[in-house]
Amino acid sequence: MSRYNIAVIKGDGIGPEIVDEAIKVLDAVAVNSDFELTYDEYLMGGCAYDVTGDPLPDETIEGCKKADAVLFGAIGGEEWDSLPRDKRPESGLLRLRAALGLFANYRPVKVYDELIEASTLKPEILKGVDLLVMRELTGGIYFGQPREKGDDKAYNTMVYSKDEIVRIAKEGFEAAMKRGKKVCSVDKANVLEVSQLWRDTVEEVAKDYPEVTLSHMYVDNAAMQLVRDPKQFDVILTGNIFGDILSDEASMISGSIGLLPSASIGGKVGLYEPIHGSAPDIAGQGIANPIATISSASMMLRFALGESEAADKIDAAIEQVLKEGYRTKDISDFGAKEVCSTTEIGSIIAEIVCKNA
Ligand code: NAD
Repeated sequence: MSRYNIAVIKGDGIGPEIVDEAIKVLDAVAVNSDFELTYDEYLMGGCAYDVTGDPLPDETIEGCKKADAVLFGAIGGEEWDSLPRDKRPESGLLRLRAALGLFANYRPVKVYDELIEASTLKPEILKGVDLLVMRELTGGIYFGQPREKGDDKAYNTMVYSKDEIVRIAKEGFEAAMKRGKKVCSVDKANVLEVSQLWRDTVEEVAKDYPEVTLSHMYVDNAAMQLVRDPKQFDVILTGNIFGDILSDEASMISGSIGLLPSASIGGKVGLYEPIHGSAPDIAGQGIANPIATISSASMMLRFALGESEAADKIDAAIEQVLKEGYRTKDISDFGAKEVCSTTEIGSIIAEIVCKNA
């Protein structure tokens, strides 16, 4: 019997509600498997600041480092927005990513046939979309130095070293080898020197992957192409800020930001989280969609723990729930047989996982 220890960070806003449902489903899938899961909870974000004065206490970093994987909800909220930048919830997450060496962020985007009407895009544009945004996560403008905010002038710096580009590019090509063997590298090489280095370096790495077709696209065009014809993409390989924006845009392809998972990997321990934020506007109402977090837990089983069979069971249960017409409020206008609360959806998915064991 394998035993895995999961560091759980629920965070702020809807974080605790959605992570509880993911744990419910993980426990259900573990019952009929030959592995056991244990959980240790840690604080990060606004809730951590309130208790310790630090959005990322040392105990959280240490706990995550010794776990087999980290399952994370979301952080942030207006009440912490006026704090100095290094005390704000987001800085906790940026620091944790850096501390765990999580340089690669996988954001798969898939369209569920049952929800094809939920998107603002036409069904014929969406049917069959299956793409992966591979975003560099620990470099670029979010981390670049120098940075400063004065009263009349402020600046940030976009920096990438060749090594940083090589390692994320390899990750992108490796992922493409297991998928449709196409990489579209997105940059702004017509304007930015840092993007020119990005493009040259990706070209070099591509030589080791002759089976993969490489194309390049400027980020402004990519933003347009994503809604014009998303099916043209297999793996979108891009830097931190471009990936942040494009993956949120891509989330609307699926109809709701509440559906999409992500995995951040690179170091010994990976972090698995929904792509959405803490949704303070709906926190505590029991209406948040937990599917993105449950799906992130499935990615955790597959990537971090090598438990693909269990991950398949969760993915199949999510599809079944949507097929049978159970919906949270965010997607209730599209084929709903029953509008369910956050906990109801979690329980139905957990039941299906147990039944199909
Ligand atoms: P958000 O993703 O929290 O919410 C955007 C919209 O989507 C809101 O209307 C929200 O109700 C809805 N939504 C999000 N998740 C949902 C779900 N699971 N089910 C149903 N509806 C859902 O983005 P925002 O409003 O820009 O940011 C809110 C806070 O979250 C901010 O403090 C921001 O800094 C933080 N944030 C955190 C992360 C993270 O923890 N990784 C990511 C992005 C934003």
